[in-house]
Amino acid sequence: MSDLTSLTLAGALTGLRAKQYSSVELTAAHLTAIEAARGLNAYVLETPDRALAMARAADEKIARGEAGPLEGAPLGIKDLFCTKGVRSTAGSNILGNFIPTYESTVTANLWRDGAVMLGKLNMDEFAMGSSNETSAFGPVINPWRSSGSNAALTPGGSSGGSASAVAADLCLGATATDTGGSIRQPASFTGTVGVKPTYGRCSRWGVVAFASSLDQAGPLAKTVEDAALMLTSMSGHDVKDSTSLPVEVPNFADFIGKSPRGLRIGVPKEYRVDGMPAEIEQLWSRGVDWLKDAGCEIVDVTLPHTRYALPAYYIIAPAEASSNLARYDGLRYGVRAEGTVLNDVYELTRAQGFGDEVKRRVLIGTYVLSAGYYDAYYLKALKVRRRIADDFTAAFGKVDALLTPTAPSAAFGLGDKVDDPIAMYLNDIFTVPVNLAGLPALSLPGALDAQGLPLGLQLIGRALDEGTLFTLAGALEKAAAFTSKAKRWW
Ligand code: GLN
Repeated sequence: MSDLTSLTLAGALTGLRAKQYSSVELTAAHLTAIEAARGLNAYVLETPDRALAMARAADEKIARGEAGPLEGAPLGIKDLFCTKGVRSTAGSNILGNFIPTYESTVTANLWRDGAVMLGKLNMDEFAMGSSNETSAFGPVINPWRSSGSNAALTPGGSSGGSASAVAADLCLGATATDTGGSIRQPASFTGTVGVKPTYGRCSRWGVVAFASSLDQAGPLAKTVEDAALMLTSMSGHDVKDSTSLPVEVPNFADFIGKSPRGLRIGVPKEYRVDGMPAEIEQLWSRGVDWLKDAGCEIVDVTLPHTRYALPAYYIIAPAEASSNLARYDGLRYGVRAEGTVLNDVYELTRAQGFGDEVKRRVLIGTYVLSAGYYDAYYLKALKVRRRIADDFTAAFGKVDALLTPTAPSAAFGLGDKVDDPIAMYLNDIFTVPVNLAGLPALSLPGALDAQGLPLGLQLIGRALDEGTLFTLAGALEKAAAFTSKAKRWW
């Protein structure tokens, strides 16, 4: 039965409706796979009883002919999403054994459409990181290894658990979130497909906040079609999130298979950075050729403020984080340290509950927002953010989408960058500008490098034009014909 886990989400849904297997069988196969893969540390909580109960309910709905769009499909949920009655930690000790009394809108949408929850997935603490090494639960291991090596590689972050679980067939798809690259970089490192939709496409309600003006939920999936199916369910206006957009959600899968002929694709020259491996350059050129062959017109474009994106992000994101994380005071949520006076309780709880990277961000954020520094740092960063958004607007006057690499390297070794925050932050050089501008972007696997590790291509679109990204990604997926899977060693 274990081959049920190698199905795509779309394939599994077809089989379920044709009654080739039940959701209980499909779910049980995944639970067995998860148990056998605990060494990857992808799940921080397995919920087998809930999964099987949801699967039984799904089977009854299928039998009654009332199946929802994702009926019976077992998924993994990043532990940043609050799940009612199920421990939700955001990868932090400070939330302790926090059990939400409510369900995030995105997960509620998935359950409404019939999906089954297998468990909660590991992640960097409060989604701050690019390697899943800031998690209070320890790092996630990438199922991919360099050829001829047993060294443990990172699946990327912060959605490392989601990416590893999808790549290792421990779920049919997973939820993830992206504040500066946390869906797309892990997708690139694990040979999976990740979509960060337009800011406001998915509700942030019930998603633990990191940097509210940048945070977006999206899917990590095995194929472009699977990502489209998940995103259609996850999206939608929500009155509980004032930044959620009151717009119709198209059926994103309808855009796949449409001809991209005539679309204009921009190649931004600023994304050619020093020190990027030649193989990533080559894949980028191949991507350009694949789209040319599909009838697209390629246009050189410029995004002149790109080099200011990371510095601006590392002011704005910590500023918002320092404010959002003020709520973890030892009184309202999670763990509480003993202290004789109130200030001691606050200080000890936060000193013991937060990890080093989170503390670094709270310190930076508090600094850039403080009187005297606000104008010099925070306000200036907001102005840079506007320039970056304007660059994209100008480019989208000439082109319909942009094609870039997703990340400047393949998956790196665990421990390689933990002592060098700047090197870690540089991972997001191609992804962060998109969040600052609120645009949609998609990462899909394009090729393996000489070490046998996956490399991703990124498509960036106009606001609310995920549809064009799915059309282009469908064409690229076909041309790249990337079918490699991590060789099973776990
Ligand atoms: N790696 C980036 C950071 O550490 C982005 C993380 C994210 O997108 N959540 O902030």
